[in-house]
Amino acid sequence: MKSALVMNEFSLIDVFFKTPALQRDDVIYGIGDDAACLQVPPGKQLFVSTDTLVADVHFLSSWDPFDIAFRAVMVNVSDIAAMAAIPCWVSLALTIPDADFTWLTRFSEGLHAALSPFGISLIGGDTTRGPLSITLTIHGMAPHGKGVRRKGAMPGDIIWVSGELGAAALAVSFLERPDMAETDRLVLMKKLLHPQARIDLAVMLQRFATAAIDISDGLAADLNHICEASGVGACLSLAAIPVHPLVIKYLGDNATDFSIGGGDDYELCFTTPASLYNDVVETLNEDGLFCYSVGVIEEVPGLRGADSRGDVIVLAPRGFSHF
Ligand code: ADP
Ligand code: MG
Repeated sequence: MKSALVMNEFSLIDVFFKTPALQRDDVIYGIGDDAACLQVPPGKQLFVSTDTLVADVHFLSSWDPFDIAFRAVMVNVSDIAAMAAIPCWVSLALTIPDADFTWLTRFSEGLHAALSPFGISLIGGDTTRGPLSITLTIHGMAPHGKGVRRKGAMPGDIIWVSGELGAAALAVSFLERPDMAETDRLVLMKKLLHPQARIDLAVMLQRFATAAIDISDGLAADLNHICEASGVGACLSLAAIPVHPLVIKYLGDNATDFSIGGGDDYELCFTTPASLYNDVVETLNEDGLFCYSVGVIEEVPGLRGADSRGDVIVLAPRGFSHF
């Protein structure tokens, strides 16, 4: 569809999207035709996911466009990571109020800076005028049958979390807090703006995981998705939850609670059979990685938390919900 942008749409696409796009041999043709043509190798399956980020809902229009684009990519790559697939292609549906050269330059820099370390190629999209919104559709691949779903967790499985939680949610709640140390604010904002999607766990997940999800809405909410899809329940060891040190510094006794409820970290939560615990730890070690075992899957539905004395409390599957 012809868009109504002031800057010539084709030169805009060439300058900001086509020219800087990473090239891949499996992109037979990408930006420039009416559709991209992509080659899926034999033995691989394709994973597709779409996420929309709307201005002043998912990000602030006042943010550096570099960060807006970077975060949009990571949010999408994280969905592919949660399936234990490797990302390869992305298309971008961009709606912008006007063709602001400076804004597009920063946006394009952030976009390509986030895509290139993963070797992801931008293969097409759409550019329209309207209120700022970014929709990315990402494609990933995994060997046949090796993808990991939310469904599949079994009673007795160990629950893992791939990194520290709570920092991004704390950054959101402290966006306007002037009394915070500048060094702390920078650390927290980096966690919010530049999350690192956990593609590095893909092969381990393909080998061992029974279920996985990325933590976008908070551990409680997202683990609850695994439980509902798998028809099981979960008990978290509250003392084992990896809470980001700055969350402890600023929230003290409420830190664990806050970190279970807060989203936006884009770490992974996954489950593995208890019998494979040592294999998981060894494989992670070999790859220079570490994950935290935080609880166990149980037959009884619902989410529970055990404190250090062993007392069990019921956890609400809180988290961010748009509706
Ligand atoms: P059409 O009118 O056939 O939909 P467009 O003018 O929208 O074609 O797009 C021309 C080419 O540029 C297409 O290959 C499309 O995939 C690509 N494209 C458009 N916008 C973007 C964008 N924001 N990022 C990447 N590719 C884009
Ligand atoms: Mg179009």
